[in-house]
Amino acid sequence: MKSIYSMTIADLETFLIENEEKKYRASQIMDWLYIKRVNTFNDMSNLSKSLIELLDKNFYFDSMEIIKEQKDDDVSKYLIKLNDGNLIEAVLMNHNYGNSLCISTQVGCNMGCKFCESGRRKKVRDLLSSELVLQILKIEEKINKRISHVVIMGIGEPFDNYDNLIKFIEIVNYSKGIALGSRHITVSTCGVVPKIKEFMKLPFQVNLAISLHAPDDNIRNKIMPISKVYNMDLLMKTLKEYLNNGGRRVTFEYIMLDGINDSMECASNLAKLLKGINCYVNLIPYNETENIGFKRSSKEQIMKFYDKLKKEKVNVTIRREFGGNIDAACGQLRSKESV
Ligand code: SAH
Repeated sequence: MKSIYSMTIADLETFLIENEEKKYRASQIMDWLYIKRVNTFNDMSNLSKSLIELLDKNFYFDSMEIIKEQKDDDVSKYLIKLNDGNLIEAVLMNHNYGNSLCISTQVGCNMGCKFCESGRRKKVRDLLSSELVLQILKIEEKINKRISHVVIMGIGEPFDNYDNLIKFIEIVNYSKGIALGSRHITVSTCGVVPKIKEFMKLPFQVNLAISLHAPDDNIRNKIMPISKVYNMDLLMKTLKEYLNNGGRRVTFEYIMLDGINDSMECASNLAKLLKGINCYVNLIPYNETENIGFKRSSKEQIMKFYDKLKKEKVNVTIRREFGGNIDAACGQLRSKESV
């Protein structure tokens, strides 16, 4: 048995044809699932009895439960319990352009970034594509509003759960379902090069964000173990290839860590590194957590760093501090719940 929420339109069509049903039923099923939002096959009143039986035999409806919500003005953070009891998080941000949801892709994470709360726990398992879809469905049900943007930046490394990630993108992008435009979807990775290469071959124009956090291998190796596997040179070469293949402007995330990566020399090396690359840099004030020793750079240092990049003609913004006081940094809510 499979979750019905893990089926793309193409998967459903194949299934129907294999079972001597009409292909067009696939779009009716998608309509029931994602427009009308029923959660039994019996409620799909334009399907034949025999098709309902067939669906019941082959698919189940999975679910998940929001067990805790922390709210601040325009950020809500949800702790979600999966069917097997594992916990994940999703964060909803109200922007002037819509509601953006940050979703998790794994229970735990194996990337081991030194500053990150999620990385303190090894990966327990990958989320199923249905569990990625359900984060959107559950939060939309809870707030009774549509989600306009999805950022895949919660717990886990999306490119370490690649196949389910791609299925998820196909499902939510389907135009007669959730219909989330690919330009409204952003995938964030710590830099898993082989998967960036696969990703660039896909037909959708999904945004790519790279957690860079350092201007060179020397500093990056100290805080992000992935950098020892795929070094800066390789990463940058791959991103240039991605852009040359029609990829959209890349976002570089850069957490400001006091005394680690926030010097003027770092700013100037970063500007050199990114010269000629169609990108923008998002400076992120580090969200300090109880369990990890890193400190956030001072406001003045962040401003100096920002000014230096501007002067060097780098497109740069400073992230609005979403959710610092509601444990909205990656993995912090889950961590409190289960320590
Ligand atoms: N594994 C993916 C996505 C999850 S992490 C990636 O690395 O991009 C999402 C982002 O949050 C990353 O840029 C990560 O480096 C950052 N992050 C992790 N802990 C943080 C913290 N305490 N404060 C601010 N950003 C943090």
